[in-house]
Amino acid sequence: MTEIRIAEKVIDQFERPVISLRISITNRCNVKCFYCHHDGIVPQNYEMTPNEIERIVKVSKEIGIEKIRLSGGEPLIREDIVEIVAKISSIGFRDISLTTNGVLMGKYAEDLYKAGLTRVNVSFDTLNPKTYQFITKRDYMKRAMDGIKEAVRAGLNPVKVNMVVMKGVNESEIWDMFNFCKETGAILQLIELLKTDNSQESGFFDEYHYDMGELEHELNKLSSHVKTRKFMQDRKKYFIEGGEIEIVRPMDNTEFCKNCTRLRITPDGKIKPCLLRNDNLVDIIEPMRCGYNDEELKKVFLKAIENREPYFTDSCS
Ligand code: SAM
Repeated sequence: MTEIRIAEKVIDQFERPVISLRISITNRCNVKCFYCHHDGIVPQNYEMTPNEIERIVKVSKEIGIEKIRLSGGEPLIREDIVEIVAKISSIGFRDISLTTNGVLMGKYAEDLYKAGLTRVNVSFDTLNPKTYQFITKRDYMKRAMDGIKEAVRAGLNPVKVNMVVMKGVNESEIWDMFNFCKETGAILQLIELLKTDNSQESGFFDEYHYDMGELEHELNKLSSHVKTRKFMQDRKKYFIEGGEIEIVRPMDNTEFCKNCTRLRITPDGKIKPCLLRNDNLVDIIEPMRCGYNDEELKKVFLKAIENREPYFTDSCS
């Protein structure tokens, strides 16, 4: 096995450059999606301050991180979200994005754009109020729809709509969602349901899982052209009648691991080297609070990168 290398960016021991950082800034959420995998993070009630997030991000830039994504929980639930984005933006990244359910996007879109947010993904699965209520246990569909429109209007680009496609729930809405996105100026991203720890035992996964294979075949036929996105798990992007559809296939596979360039930070300040593992986390917040300087914090990042070992090692090594 080779060692990790530091060139302009850090390359881990499986030859994967580490260039993006996804920070979960809270575990709190204002909806209760029944399928949620909570980004592979065990729920706790800790949050880092804007200054702590800024410091982590600053050190991450020094080891080669180029792109930052804020996630949660629901990141817009934090009242200091604009301050957090402004602090990150002042450090200088080519890409600062956010994943949200869109419910509070109408309130923040303009300020987030001005603070330096470049793009946004809005998780939004249905245009049917009853289905929205079934999925989220909340009555916020109109607010989320308006949030998507407001994000486009504010200048965030691209605005992607993440739709988890589920059998018997919203599979029949794919083309309505495509048209909604096209009219709004957003891009539709269709996400295949991922197994969660208990979804298989409970029968939930078998009940709702919708295999995108057939659909991809249809999209292939309908598209004027198709792009494959390298380093984005070879995701396919279909160009159809003036609109775009992207497909996100399950992440519990060797291709996902092989192309992974991302580290994650949990809401309580631990570096999470791999999405689907919780046994290799490295604490960065305690060392920071104990007075580590930037050089020492860089070493903490490098330790986490050493821990990046593919979940499915057969074709990654
Ligand atoms: N609250 C934010 C949001 O709604 O986008 C960020 C957190 S949410 C966990 C991040 C993304 O994970 C959303 O796009 C959501 O649809 C997706 N997601 C959650 N559980 C999933 C599952 N079991 N399968 C596929 N995608 C899932």
